[in-house]
Amino acid sequence: MTRTYAMVGTPCQITAATLMDRYTEDFPVELKLGLFCMENFSYTYLKKLAEEEGIDLADVSELRIEKGRLWFHLNDGSKVSVPLERARAAMRKNCAVCMDFTSEQSDISIGSVGSPEGWSTIIIRTDKGHELIEKARKAGYIETKPLTERGIRILEKLASGKKEDNLQEIKRRESVARPVLYWRVMPDEEYLDEITDYQFDDLRSDVIDVGACVLCGACVASCPEDIISIKDRKPEVDGECPEGCNACYVACPRTYVPDSIIGHDSASTPLGEYIEILSARAPMFRGQDGGVVTALLTYAMREGIIDGALVVDRDQERPWKPLPVLAEEPQDIVKAAGTKYSACPLLKILKE
Ligand SMILES: Cc1cc2nc3c(=O)[nH]c(=O)nc-3n(C[C@H](O)[C@H](O)[C@H](O)COP(=O)(O)OP(=O)(O)OC[C@H]3O[C@@H](n4cnc5c(N)ncnc54)[C@H](O)[C@@H]3O)c2cc1C
Ligand code: SF4
Ligand code: SF4
Ligand code: SF4
Repeated sequence: MTRTYAMVGTPCQITAATLMDRYTEDFPVELKLGLFCMENFSYTYLKKLAEEEGIDLADVSELRIEKGRLWFHLNDGSKVSVPLERARAAMRKNCAVCMDFTSEQSDISIGSVGSPEGWSTIIIRTDKGHELIEKARKAGYIETKPLTERGIRILEKLASGKKEDNLQEIKRRESVARPVLYWRVMPDEEYLDEITDYQFDDLRSDVIDVGACVLCGACVASCPEDIISIKDRKPEVDGECPEGCNACYVACPRTYVPDSIIGHDSASTPLGEYIEILSARAPMFRGQDGGVVTALLTYAMREGIIDGALVVDRDQERPWKPLPVLAEEPQDIVKAAGTKYSACPLLKILKE
């Protein structure tokens, strides 16, 4: 029996899923909830940063980025913050060339920017996304209200700011012979010809060895031979690639992409294409912001719209280390609520 999944992910993970959906057979993710994302951090650095402030991550109940600072909310109710500029020293270098703030290829994008505290901003992009929002609203899982004009202006300003800054960085890297392949977008018809012979060795030299990997796990999930694994935060291969296979290269969001998925015109449209933008919150759920991601996934599972959801929980052994999970019960979704500010090979869970 075919199973149908939803996923929640950062824009780069959503791009990987979009490529897999188009070029991989029987890709089971039918619903993509994309998060807003300005940057991501290395887990090792987050831990070190906390330790420098005298904090053990085991004592942290919540992590938040607000008002230009990274906030550690502690279990005893106190809060400690560090300026975002300091935390940004540990930003993953690939985030500096990322041209998507709002997960433009998702069905629904969700973040906090633009909405009041305790609410989420949602960008509805597809009919499927629209239908889910309407049903969840009627069933009382979420409540919605229009996003104010000021909220939309703030959201557009932040999204444009990311694109403008990162476009400069892309140009700078390209000018010193550090190619940013995914921004060398190609017409669809050229794309498949160009990458026909590319295999894992090319993925290693074009993406992994040059520090362009976003650690999405799509290469692991797409490999028909099951010979890719992630060791020490890097994809590695152990085995021979059969002639004609280029699945990992195609699935990777940091190799070339066809212009029907990412076009250069996206540099001048801050939020991508959408149907409607709203503020929303989910009174029954506690989440990072409005709890909307948790509410939508729980509703979809209880109604039988999805059989499972790819979510990011916390590792029990290492607090705040993100752990990719295939949630098959609503309580698994609820447990995974909240933002973990480091990269996570979410899509590899499809293989496991
Ligand atoms: C790395 C990162 C950076 C972000 N930056 C911004 C930002 O700059 N501005 C902004 O407005 N919003 C940002 N967000 C989104 C924001 O933090 C909330 O996730 C979003 O507002 C949804 O809130 P919620 O209460 O509806 O989600 P919840 O109901 O709390 O659900 C959150 C969901 O996020 C998933 N998740 C948690 N960590 C990760 C991860 N590392 N990778 C993939 N999925 C994950 C969980 O599976 C969970 O289902 C960021 C999120 C991440 C992961
Ligand atoms: S590359 Fe970095 S900034 Fe871009 S979506 Fe991925 S984690 Fe976020
Ligand atoms: S078998 Fe195919 S997908 Fe797997 S590593 Fe080799 S080229 Fe990549
Ligand atoms: S190399 Fe693999 S894990 Fe890294 S970005 Fe590409 S597909 Fe994702």
